[in-house]
Amino acid sequence: MNELDSELMIGALENRGMKRVREEEDADLLLFNTCSIRDLAERKVMGKIGQLGRASKNRPLIGVTGCMANAKKERIFRKLPHVDFVLGTNNITDLNSVLDEVLETGKQTLKTDMHFEENLNYMDAVRDDPVKAFVSIIRGCDKYCTYCVVPYTRGKEVSRPPEDIESEVKKLASSGYKEITLLGQNVNSYGHDQPKWNELFHDLLYRLDKIDGIERIRFMTSHPCDITVELMEAIRDLPSLCEFVHFPIQAGSSRILRKMNRRYTLESYLEKVELFRKIVPGVSLGTDIIVGFPTETEEEFQMTYDVFKQIRYSVAFIFAYSARKGTPAYRWKDDIPEEVKNDRLHRLMDLHQEIAKEDMETFIGSPTQVLVESKNKNGQLKGRTRCWKKVIFSGTEDLIGTLQSVDITGCNHQTLLGELVKKPALQIV
Ligand code: SAH
Ligand code: SF4
Repeated sequence: MNELDSELMIGALENRGMKRVREEEDADLLLFNTCSIRDLAERKVMGKIGQLGRASKNRPLIGVTGCMANAKKERIFRKLPHVDFVLGTNNITDLNSVLDEVLETGKQTLKTDMHFEENLNYMDAVRDDPVKAFVSIIRGCDKYCTYCVVPYTRGKEVSRPPEDIESEVKKLASSGYKEITLLGQNVNSYGHDQPKWNELFHDLLYRLDKIDGIERIRFMTSHPCDITVELMEAIRDLPSLCEFVHFPIQAGSSRILRKMNRRYTLESYLEKVELFRKIVPGVSLGTDIIVGFPTETEEEFQMTYDVFKQIRYSVAFIFAYSARKGTPAYRWKDDIPEEVKNDRLHRLMDLHQEIAKEDMETFIGSPTQVLVESKNKNGQLKGRTRCWKKVIFSGTEDLIGTLQSVDITGCNHQTLLGELVKKPALQIV
């Protein structure tokens, strides 16, 4: 979501005649589009902006946008007095007026609304990638997991009208885009805030699948409790919808899940996975996991480890719990020592690597469909399978943006290696 927001802000600045530069020294304005999800992300950006303040008198304007803007508001000015403006996640449309105000008055300016108004011109987004595009379908989050700042930094859920999404995807298709990723903190609660539209997430997928030119549709991210049978059937039935779903479990113990306010138990989660695999055999699942949540015992961590081994996620983002101010969990003691959190983190990461490697090896020896995305530094083509595995192979640049069949011959770490399957030459009879 932050990446798309950055693309939108670049578009808004280009509309007023500014140009993006690659080197910090060449910039008149530096925008920091921040993340607040964990303490480390905030500390890194605060450190970087702090350095800029000390570095020079003749410095560029500095703007702080993204979740940290909403989480810290004027406290940013107190800690970093050289920041010129702070602009929240729901105020991207105000970027140019805030910048005008700063330029006119020279005063520090803050705009951080809690509610998102559906008023962004998504066609302004300046996308670097010519093949894949992010498309926002819902902003905000109403789930209130006890550890998470997102409901406080992005506000309540606001779905985007289906006709607007459809027309953006049609435009993307006619500009040559082949893959779209539908974005939201919780895409599968799409439409629940707008009952009069009578269009839920799976309905939207049926609408978008019909658009010519879009070969692949992905979405990020889903909350397990909102994954419906209708969605599973859509994945089974719609040709463009990829068979890879991020299905974040967070923890393997029902007691911890309750404390996290995740709204499912281990048993109900496993039942859903079983049903999913029955409806879509071979569906590939991804997850997010937090280790070291307050009061998590070694036995409870072991349950997370065991469920990971049982489900064999192909993609996993594993985090050590980070206490976030303003969340319910912040009031509880962050009682798991850092060494214990780190130890659990590494044990789970090792398991993930082992499983990912075995999973990759199953691809060796057969052809797989790859959407060619770009050329890498070594001049080889890079693309992904439908289930999101990276594939590297030799070929010419004109294949970028096309679907190709690639014979998988080997793999390393996180990448499949292959050879292009040569199409038979046309026979003239
Ligand atoms: N809406 C998405 C994820 C948003 S945040 C979802 O519910 O799946 C991405 C991930 O960051 C979360 O899934 C969670 O695993 C992790 N995360 C969020 N808050 C965290 C915290 N306080 N400490 C550690 N990890 C956290
Ligand atoms: Fe955060 Fe939970 Fe919302 Fe995901 S569903 S953004 S983890 S509150």
